[in-house]
Amino acid sequence: MDTPRGYPQPPPGWAAQIIGETCLKYRVPYPTVTWRRSKVNVTSSGNTKWNRSGITITAGTAEMDQLLVLLHELAHWIVINRHWRTRKGRGHTVEFWRVAFDLYEANELTELAKSRETRKYQKARQEAARR
Ligand SMILES: [Zn+2]
Repeated sequence: MDTPRGYPQPPPGWAAQIIGETCLKYRVPYPTVTWRRSKVNVTSSGNTKWNRSGITITAGTAEMDQLLVLLHELAHWIVINRHWRTRKGRGHTVEFWRVAFDLYEANELTELAKSRETRKYQKARQEAARR
């Protein structure tokens, strides 16, 4: 945690371990991960490229939030790779949320951290049910 803020760097050890274990378990390639530390934010943000070029995490200062965002982006990575040929792996689908919550459970994310994701998951299920 001594590297300068803002510069892209490899993910920290704990994150690299989770990425490695998760990709092995779900049989998807190990993504290129660009890790930045936010200069100003407590919360983290992330982005997963639909063309499978990799994942970018901008890490805030709250560590539990870094984990949540990393797992969220890994769930995108898994679903994108599953549906690569049909390009149907985009977005926050019910399948995406199932994978995401499997990862949250497997990595023992706290109920508090999960709560904001739960609302989004419920919305996706309601929308799917209406179709
Ligand atoms: Zn997302």
